[in-house]
Amino acid sequence: MTVTVSLVRDDRVRTGRVTVTVPENSTIKQAADLGGVDCPTFCALPEMPPGSAEPPYTSGSCGLCTVDLQLACGRTSSVCACRYRLTSAEDGAVITVHSARLDSTRDANATLLALRHRASCITCPLGSEPCELRTMLAGHDLGLERYPHPYLAPEPPDVSNPVLDVQRDNCVLCRRCERICPVGAIQFVGRGRDTSLLIDPDRCVSCGQCTQVCPAAAIVERPAIRQVREALADPDTVVTVQVAPAVRVAVGEAFGLAPGTNLIGHLCGALRRLGFDAVFDTDFAADLTIVEEAAELVDRLGTGHALPMITSCCPAWIRYVETFWPDLLPHLSTCKSPQQMLGAVTKNWWAQQVGIDPDRVVNVAVMPCTAKKLEARREEMADGPRRHVDHVLTTRELIRMLKASGLHLPDVPEETPTPMLSEGSGAGTIFGATGGVLEAAVRTVHTLVTGTELADPDVHAVRGTAGVRAATIGLGGRTVEVAVVHGLHNVPPVLQQIREGSSPYAFIEVMACPGGCVGGGGQPHGFDMAVRRQRAEGLFSTDAASPSRRSHENKEVATLRAALGDDERHRLLHTRYRATVTPHTGRL
Ligand code: SF4
Ligand code: SF4
Ligand code: SF4
Repeated sequence: MTVTVSLVRDDRVRTGRVTVTVPENSTIKQAADLGGVDCPTFCALPEMPPGSAEPPYTSGSCGLCTVDLQLACGRTSSVCACRYRLTSAEDGAVITVHSARLDSTRDANATLLALRHRASCITCPLGSEPCELRTMLAGHDLGLERYPHPYLAPEPPDVSNPVLDVQRDNCVLCRRCERICPVGAIQFVGRGRDTSLLIDPDRCVSCGQCTQVCPAAAIVERPAIRQVREALADPDTVVTVQVAPAVRVAVGEAFGLAPGTNLIGHLCGALRRLGFDAVFDTDFAADLTIVEEAAELVDRLGTGHALPMITSCCPAWIRYVETFWPDLLPHLSTCKSPQQMLGAVTKNWWAQQVGIDPDRVVNVAVMPCTAKKLEARREEMADGPRRHVDHVLTTRELIRMLKASGLHLPDVPEETPTPMLSEGSGAGTIFGATGGVLEAAVRTVHTLVTGTELADPDVHAVRGTAGVRAATIGLGGRTVEVAVVHGLHNVPPVLQQIREGSSPYAFIEVMACPGGCVGGGGQPHGFDMAVRRQRAEGLFSTDAASPSRRSHENKEVATLRAALGDDERHRLLHTRYRATVTPHTGRL
């Protein structure tokens, strides 16, 4: 069934009428998009992660998409274009999208949003990033002078979350965060003017997807910039920094470059200009992770112990299993994440090699991720008081530091990372995209099992952005089933199979963020899967052009593993995870 409606662009312009036919149950907003009629929205998310609920992606709370609907019978009402679905009852209706009356309604609704926001642009953590709220408000005639200022009492930031700062008096109640949160950790309590945002600390896994969609800087990562600057200014410290794969293909967006542009050389130069003493590439640690993880998988395939084995490099995913599926913890690989492996070997091996007291070393990690801030604080990620990683900066924080230092990244001369912990294969690079860890592991597992290299290192069967992707991998005389999952909302059916003993898989990659780390909670703002795909393409094309595409060919990794020996290697690079006992309630 279809519905045909007439859209009036603006009732003040005679020529602005468009007739469109859409499938029944389409929203008015979808009809307007089809007809090329600009219908404003604000609380709506343009899309949801692959595999999640169907449209509408909106709470309908902002009121900016209000349109006038006149049915064929003549009855007229004002409705929300994002939520109102067209049925046979609306066939032949006339929908006015812009008029003097609608403009004034939208101005009033925009004013209500502005009143809720404390508008402290000078201290806003968005810094020089584009502000969605300010951009939207700039298009409206606000009547703020008619209301008391401040309209709501100012509140200090809520810092009870381990990685997020919640500034409630910035929140405009668009509820995008509630829609995007994969674990239902966000609630709104109270009514009307007193409505307030709460993040449940017992459910939140620190993925940071809420920070990606918040248009008002009401939820932001807890910054580590001040601590990093203090370490850089301290003459007694040796400050190292590592850069994750996904950072290099996103950071350029803040400098006008297309998503996917790989700036690792420029980053090495810029980080040295910021004062870092050594710049390591997390690609190295990704290769190290794969060599360790592949050996672990081959061992489990031989014994049948705790199959399927599931990747462990995403700390939001780890937190999710610990909190919601603790009985499945034995299925996690014992490998630490690349961030933590690199931190551990920097202090315990590299410092010794270059003759530096490890207690003088401060390790900084630049990550696409807010959950890595939580991971760096975990008690098992340290040797006593000596943490593997001392401070984690998100991509956004690095952008702020670069801009504050006047460094226009594309203009900074390219340099190479510091030797010993920086050689990276193409397999290490693709860690930043969904499917990349599994693909890298398959390349190495194939060699370990068959003694021969995989003829084509591109494992196309696990690429793409479907929420769950499964493939059969040939390993000499046998085959194994593998799966890739991204976005935590896609995980429960896969885990339920394991719990019931019916999982067909031997190996599963899980990344909490839609698109993998390229879509991490610490990346430049916005939820746009097309942008995330472009970033992933940047990583896959870097891999395709790499002289080495297999982690087990990494010579620095081989040197390190031989030097550590089995016991130290296991102590530094592996760990065990545990069911979560929350600090707030004491319950599992
Ligand atoms: S960080 Fe992730 S889990 Fe926590 S509230 Fe935000 S979206 Fe939800
Ligand atoms: S915290 Fe941000 S995304 Fe969530 S309701 Fe408030 S303004 Fe919207
Ligand atoms: S998918 Fe990547 S960016 Fe997202 S939480 Fe996991 S490790 Fe962090």
